[in-house]
Amino acid sequence: MTEHDLTLVAGSAETSCGPDVVELQHLIDGNWTDSASGETFERHSPASGQLISRASRGDASDTEKAIAAARKAFDDRRWSDVPGAERARFLNRVADLIDTNRTRIARLETQESGKPISQAEAEIEGAANIWRYAATLAWNIRGESQNALGPDMLGMVLKVPVGVVSIITPWNFPFLIVSQKLPFALAAGCTAVIKPSELTSATTVLLGQLLIEAGLPAGVVNIVLGYGDPVGTVMTTHADVDMVSFTGSTGVGKSIVAATSATLKKVSLELGGKNPQVIFADADLDEAADAIVFGVYFNAGECCNSGSRIIVHEDVADALNEKIVALSRKVPFGDPMNPETRVGAIISKTHQDRIDGYVRQAVDAGARVLLGGEALSIDGLSGNFYQPTVVADVGAQMPIATEEVFGPVLSVLTFRTFDEAIALANTASYGLSAGVWSDNVHTCLEFVRRAEAGTVWTNTWMDGYPELPFGGVKESGLGRELGSGGIEEFLELKTVQMRIGKTRQKWV
Ligand code: NAD
Repeated sequence: MTEHDLTLVAGSAETSCGPDVVELQHLIDGNWTDSASGETFERHSPASGQLISRASRGDASDTEKAIAAARKAFDDRRWSDVPGAERARFLNRVADLIDTNRTRIARLETQESGKPISQAEAEIEGAANIWRYAATLAWNIRGESQNALGPDMLGMVLKVPVGVVSIITPWNFPFLIVSQKLPFALAAGCTAVIKPSELTSATTVLLGQLLIEAGLPAGVVNIVLGYGDPVGTVMTTHADVDMVSFTGSTGVGKSIVAATSATLKKVSLELGGKNPQVIFADADLDEAADAIVFGVYFNAGECCNSGSRIIVHEDVADALNEKIVALSRKVPFGDPMNPETRVGAIISKTHQDRIDGYVRQAVDAGARVLLGGEALSIDGLSGNFYQPTVVADVGAQMPIATEEVFGPVLSVLTFRTFDEAIALANTASYGLSAGVWSDNVHTCLEFVRRAEAGTVWTNTWMDGYPELPFGGVKESGLGRELGSGGIEEFLELKTVQMRIGKTRQKWV
């Protein structure tokens, strides 16, 4: 295959040209501040190579100041005493500001992450709606009462905010993921310290500006820019932090569990996935092929929900592969600033090499590349791109089939019986999401019951709604975000037992 067989979108002066360099500072106790050390770090566009942002580089002392501000703001109750209805109004104001600033946020998101601009705009729009959904929960925090404990007792269960929350986010959906956490934490009455990925700091800083514009009291949300070590390390070990809400790789997630154990913090983790889609012989192959292509190339495959592992009945494998390859050629790959583009740049050269390593390793082990399998050059852009890649004859134990490739690379495995399909689907140590394609509702339901995953899609892939919970089982995480339970992660139960009247039996 040559690159001419693909649909490529070249860079152009208008579409790839960056803005003036954006200068980013920490937000600590309501003030925008440089690092105590004066150090900074830079982010270049992974598509064009242009310098996009220069950020203050946080160290332990900056992080400790941010935690102290969040602690004080929680302990003096400046936010948790605000009535739920008013917190809800605040969250709705933020949502409106996100909408008003959508173009500005999306542009920066694309420039730092390399994702297509049309996708970034859709994500920012989706994020605003999550803030609105969280607002409905802020107005509805209800505990329980227990009125059957006998004539002289009344029991109550209050829901109280957890306290100071460290929020740590990855680079692949920077604005969306902080929006899956922060509005729920604020709805609950918590205060927060946020650390975005060092590769995509800018839009979290923009969010900080919108929070201030919407009237958030100083210290309630603090942002520290910088690296996992030292910023993330301090955020996960400091005694004044009550909870860590983390989205990122399973490896770092496990190290966070270890780091938080000394102070026994509440931890919620959204980690990696190696998500199978099982295609039965009676499935609508055109529908399935389209969803498969979307599932694997969306966000250049740099997606925890990437549908990167297809398990197809051997009777229809060739027919499905043919459709997938034909559709893959039509997907516009290239300049992320062009509104026509569906797949943009790979986040870094190191990551691109890692993706390629998985493909090389699979080929060496006997797999067959049906399409792609190499880095891609895009005219007018010097950044990192990878060809849409389909690899067939993949063995169940190959790393390409069990580990997160996090690139536009599809692995195709085959099966003969339902039990074989389920066994293959459940092989990975991950359990984030899974999908089934069949015209038979019984097959779909049986699959739903037996798939080890936090989310199962039947005859569709990667739909998402703020009102439905999201999270993983096995090594894909702990806890759930979104849905009505999204706020529960940030609430503790407090039991109250009240004696009514002077009926208590004396002990001595
Ligand atoms: P990563 O784990 O390398 O980094 C995530 C964040 O953790 C970054 O902000 C990083 O600076 C910080 N960090 C790194 N080391 C740390 C430490 N020791 N202590 C505290 N913080 C530390 O992940 P990434 O490469 O940014 O993102 C990709 C990963 O995220 C993939 O594995 C993907 O599956 C996962 N992800 C999961 C979901 C989900 O909802 N399940 C969503 C998006 C991404």
